[in-house]
Amino acid sequence: MGNTLHIKRPSHIGKQFQNVYREDIQAAKSKILNKKRKPSCHCLLCEKTIDEIGGKRIVVQKTLGTFSSKSYLGGGDPDFPELSIKMDDDNFIVLRGKKGMWTDELIAKVKEIYSNQERPWFCHKCAYKTCHICGEIMNNPIGSDVIYDDGCISHVAALGYNPGCVNDSCENYKKWGK
Ligand SMILES: [Zn+2]
Ligand SMILES: [Zn+2]
Repeated sequence: MGNTLHIKRPSHIGKQFQNVYREDIQAAKSKILNKKRKPSCHCLLCEKTIDEIGGKRIVVQKTLGTFSSKSYLGGGDPDFPELSIKMDDDNFIVLRGKKGMWTDELIAKVKEIYSNQERPWFCHKCAYKTCHICGEIMNNPIGSDVIYDDGCISHVAALGYNPGCVNDSCENYKKWGK
């Protein structure tokens, strides 16, 4: 960025010797905020809250999701192509999903969420993490990155096990500890 800090001794601290550009401060701020985007309040597709649906908030999986990137990504699997939207000169949002799902309206929503420093997410139902028997949500969205209230993201590994669903009258039901 080419700015010089003019603090040469401790007594200079707090005095306006620094020659820092507003744009640099903004860039630094957004870098910090990028790491801890909070989840937006609704599922991007069905607009329900996590309390209405239950389960976890899925931000990205192999064929669905959004993430920010420093470079333009596109193409890939023709049935699930990636496409990128430009936020500014070196920030893109990459969209993953079934061909044709990213309508202009949906893209506008994603942009708005990212510019509010939030992260869009998908509920289990919209991300197809549902029981093949009863259609209720599965206990755990395996193979997905999920986001928590505080913006922390963790990966739910796909270990080849059946996590079971949450419907206690279904034969696929499994009880999970909290
Ligand atoms: Zn949903
Ligand atoms: Zn079930």
